[in-house]
Amino acid sequence: MIIGILALQGDVAEHRVALVNAGVRQVKEIRNPLDLEGIDGLIIPGGESTTISMLCISTGLDIAIQQKIDSKLPVYGSCAGMIMLATEILDGRSDQFGFKALDIAVRRNGFGRQVDSFETEVTFLDGKVTNGVFIRAPRIESVGPLVEVLATIDYQGRKVPVAVKAGNALATAYHPELDSLSQIHSIFVQMVQKATERV
Ligand code: GLN
Repeated sequence: MIIGILALQGDVAEHRVALVNAGVRQVKEIRNPLDLEGIDGLIIPGGESTTISMLCISTGLDIAIQQKIDSKLPVYGSCAGMIMLATEILDGRSDQFGFKALDIAVRRNGFGRQVDSFETEVTFLDGKVTNGVFIRAPRIESVGPLVEVLATIDYQGRKVPVAVKAGNALATAYHPELDSLSQIHSIFVQMVQKATERV
């Protein structure tokens, strides 16, 4: 299994460590369309979605990744990566590009400026709890009918979804790659395994 990490901008190294800890032996950094050759899954890291978007366009990765996602390559986006996967981006830049792979509406910096960063408990459906690091994180404002909410946080008295999955796409508003034993990376590796078995 080879997993690619989009390496135009953002926290690539942390995803690499989390993947290795989840048992992945081959990790490939993706900087141009040719790098996509042979990968079984793709991670879009956290960083700045407007910058990642611009760099995707200038390298031709916008079209190349779109084709891969449309042909069901498993893809996982954390934070800025989640914004890149959302069907609807609120408070984005007007020229911001996205892959529209996951039927969610996300608001950039949606947890408010006064709380640019925070850590809180993330609760998974099966009751497992992990620590979630939110750095100028996007907020999921709505999810489509086919989207599965995997985890939520309690935020100002409300349950807010922070990990979601639909079809070949997985996304988190937080940065599980900062947790050395990331559950999300194991979930993604399972998605990739299932997809490769199907081929
Ligand atoms: N606010 C950033 C954006 O709009 C995301 C921040 C992050 O990835 N940590 O892309």
